[in-house]
Amino acid sequence: MTPSSPLPGHPHVLYAPSGSQHALYVEGVRVSDLARQFGTPLFVYSKAAMLSALGAYQRGFAGRQAQICYAMKANSSLAVLQVFARAGCGFDIVSGGELARVLAAGGDPARIIFSGVGKTRAEMQQALKAGIGCFNVESEAELDVLSEVAAGMGTRARVSLRVNPNVDPQTHPYISTGLKGNKFGIAHDRTLAAYRHAAALPGLQVVGIDCHIGSQITEITPYLDAMDRILDLVADIESAGIPIHHIDFGGGLGIAYHGETPPAADVLWQQLLERLDARGYGQRPLMIEPGRSLVGNAGICLTEVIFTKPGEEKNFCIVDAAMNDLPRPAMYQAFHQIVPAEPRTGPGVVYDVVGPVCESGDWLGRDRVLEVQSGDLLAVLSAGAYCMSMASNYNTRGRAAEVLVDGEQVHLIRQRESVFDTFALEHLPD
Ligand code: PLP
Repeated sequence: MTPSSPLPGHPHVLYAPSGSQHALYVEGVRVSDLARQFGTPLFVYSKAAMLSALGAYQRGFAGRQAQICYAMKANSSLAVLQVFARAGCGFDIVSGGELARVLAAGGDPARIIFSGVGKTRAEMQQALKAGIGCFNVESEAELDVLSEVAAGMGTRARVSLRVNPNVDPQTHPYISTGLKGNKFGIAHDRTLAAYRHAAALPGLQVVGIDCHIGSQITEITPYLDAMDRILDLVADIESAGIPIHHIDFGGGLGIAYHGETPPAADVLWQQLLERLDARGYGQRPLMIEPGRSLVGNAGICLTEVIFTKPGEEKNFCIVDAAMNDLPRPAMYQAFHQIVPAEPRTGPGVVYDVVGPVCESGDWLGRDRVLEVQSGDLLAVLSAGAYCMSMASNYNTRGRAAEVLVDGEQVHLIRQRESVFDTFALEHLPD
């Protein structure tokens, strides 16, 4: 192990000398100190990692009219939203709850776009009252209802239509969203008709077009294909006399969980902007909706080994984090690296790392070589995106605490949920 070398894909998570050993640090803070102070499971985020991920996009768009709208579903903790709001980001939201959250964190309503296939009338009203920038409309039925709601409030809703470009993002089927069989967006073939319909509705003002083809995309080609298909549509829609003010290419850029080599955001956008320029759309205002690539590798989850248990076919390393804290392995068979906070010397044993939840699907990592004992601290890497925001109380487990590290400063940004919090809203009938 090289002293002070960052872990692959995690520029601000590193092993550094600590006494005669090495220990894991996030920025300038030893993670074992955080576990002692705040307990486990504990999510730890690096502010510098978030800002450097954002910086790659900002570099990519230098000199262009582009709005980065952080897709807050990836991690919607208030303090994380505040980091991005202060750095000038807009936000991509998918519910009235996310709207309330991002406003509470200081987000600018004018830079909010509202995606999602099932917005309710109440959510539409809430968003119109707040003065959000744009609704990304996902169906013709939604166009009619939104127009009615907006007209009823004496206003017009700014809309972009989310088009399903039928492009394969070459990712896990559960996180592909731009194929014909997915529930998202308006079918490519119906787009022009949908725009004509939208332009004729009294409560709408057409301002843009958008797409989002999937998540954890590690290749540039699907983006280029989607861009070509969207630009073809823009040409058709504008020929029909409907101006498209902005083009929104969604999110989806992947991160390195396990040796993947997605393009850096600035490299991706250099190529995409070349294509835009070549097709004559280089000056068009742009929007993007990145989520995972801004926060995924900025976070880790610390968990303590409760027991190790030899099995007939497998050895189990039972830890205090579980599928309710880190749902991605159970949901998508996703891979997260798991490393010791204070490595021991030894040959290691092959373990399945599992949580205490009563489901066989409750595993965090399979066939991992670890040299561990009860009481040791492990770090689940790449845990900044789609972990805490998907956490649940299954098995009446309070959700984990979260801390934000900024250099050597530590901020507790969410306290651990107590068991009483988990049933505080319930009532006994008598
Ligand atoms: N935009 C929309 C409409 C989405 O549905 C998602 C994720 O599902 C995102 C953006 C963010 O995707 P990612 O986190 O992969 O960047």
